[in-house]
Amino acid sequence: MDPVILPRSKHPVSRANIDNDALKVLYRLHQHGYLAYLVGGSVRDLLLGRNPKDFDVVTDARPNQIKHLFKNAYLVGRRFRLVHVIFRNKYIETSTFRRCPENNGSDNENDLMLRRENEFGTPYEDAKRRDFTINGLFYNIADYSIIDYVGGLKDLETRTLRCIGDPCIRFQEDPVRMVRAVRISGRTGFTPARDVVSSIHKYGDQVLRCAKARNLEEILQLLRYNAADSSIKMLRDTGLMQVIFPEILEHWTNSEKEKRSSAILNALDNATQNNFPRTPPVLLAALFLPAVEEATSGFQSGEHLRKEVEDTLQPFASRFQLPRRFFDRITQICIAQRWFQSKKHKRFRPSSFIKRVFFEESLALASLYLPLDDGNWQSNRDKWRSRILSSDLSSKEQDHLLRILNFRPRRKNRRRGNRHYSNRKNRSGPNKQPSQDTV
Ligand code: ATP
Ligand code: MG
Repeated sequence: MDPVILPRSKHPVSRANIDNDALKVLYRLHQHGYLAYLVGGSVRDLLLGRNPKDFDVVTDARPNQIKHLFKNAYLVGRRFRLVHVIFRNKYIETSTFRRCPENNGSDNENDLMLRRENEFGTPYEDAKRRDFTINGLFYNIADYSIIDYVGGLKDLETRTLRCIGDPCIRFQEDPVRMVRAVRISGRTGFTPARDVVSSIHKYGDQVLRCAKARNLEEILQLLRYNAADSSIKMLRDTGLMQVIFPEILEHWTNSEKEKRSSAILNALDNATQNNFPRTPPVLLAALFLPAVEEATSGFQSGEHLRKEVEDTLQPFASRFQLPRRFFDRITQICIAQRWFQSKKHKRFRPSSFIKRVFFEESLALASLYLPLDDGNWQSNRDKWRSRILSSDLSSKEQDHLLRILNFRPRRKNRRRGNRHYSNRKNRSGPNKQPSQDTV
């Protein structure tokens, strides 16, 4: 099938916005005579003028041939082999064009779930096996054109999330695609096509048939990238909330409770300060905190309190095989919230709390909901600022925590005196003062 090809002059994707290491991989493949395309979310985001979060490459080179070209390349994947080309702080996933297997590996012809890995294929087949049209576009390094086999360019224009093929089939083949539909609509702000929504209503409960780890990964991504609030609303509207987070749905017995959850997630989406810790425990605690608070309202401290928190989290943790370390950390940071509230606490030593490994994530969680709940938050926040500043953490660590609390980074004091002398030569001279931190 002939694709639509958009030459460089007709689209806005510039190499200046493509990661240098991804370009190195593309160019090296191209120079050795292979097809080399950028694909997936990176092409979608570049066309939308956004910063892609990762860059995936596809090629007609086979895994061993790819590995041969890069000394920093590793074969991964047990059944379908891909290559990770490793750079200093990232890897570029580089895979060979694939297609859906003809036989899905099931004896039951009504069971469409894919159990077999993909096989090698052509560029057309590779585009067709992808999930949504906007995720099926290629950027060709040979002539910088965009190649569209699946109608993705049209859907980008109308801001529509549409499945490649019939969503009833594509969602049954791999039900995690339904969670992806919600998270990618949330992230791009695109409207899911009507048949996408109706198919999720129909097949949503099949999500639990997928590997728990894959589901968990997609759920965490759905909360991580500044669209948690709208994505959770979409989960509710498509019926997936009942499948993924029934405990939260049960907690929303009235619209006030739902609004509070929405306000906390909105704060999470808007927590744009540098290095705000969007760790799995913080993301999940932001969602579960209202339900946890409700379950623990009669408990002050101790084992009973911990047990109530754990009982609230346990069904979700089992459903998606949440690693124990995340489970324990969510429990810790939820329990720690009482130290941030304005009440007086006996036998509370802020200086030792600040040094605990879970302080940063506890503070991050507090900074999301206390500005909404606590009328005294301003003075409470100032109190925490002083406590952090008088702690024996390094000034870098202190600055990081203050940013989480939404204080501006501390600036070094300007040197006083005659500016005439503060030229480059004098920088390392006797005038150099140790910096005095101010907020
Ligand atoms: P993000 O920007 O969040 O990374 P993405 O679309 O790039 O979004 P990835 O998980 O990085 O998502 O996947 C890369 C590409 O692989 C997708 O764009 C899509 O083409 C393809 N893909 C991923 N998961 C599936 C799936 N379950 N079924 C079919 N294609 C998939
Ligand atoms: Mg991606």
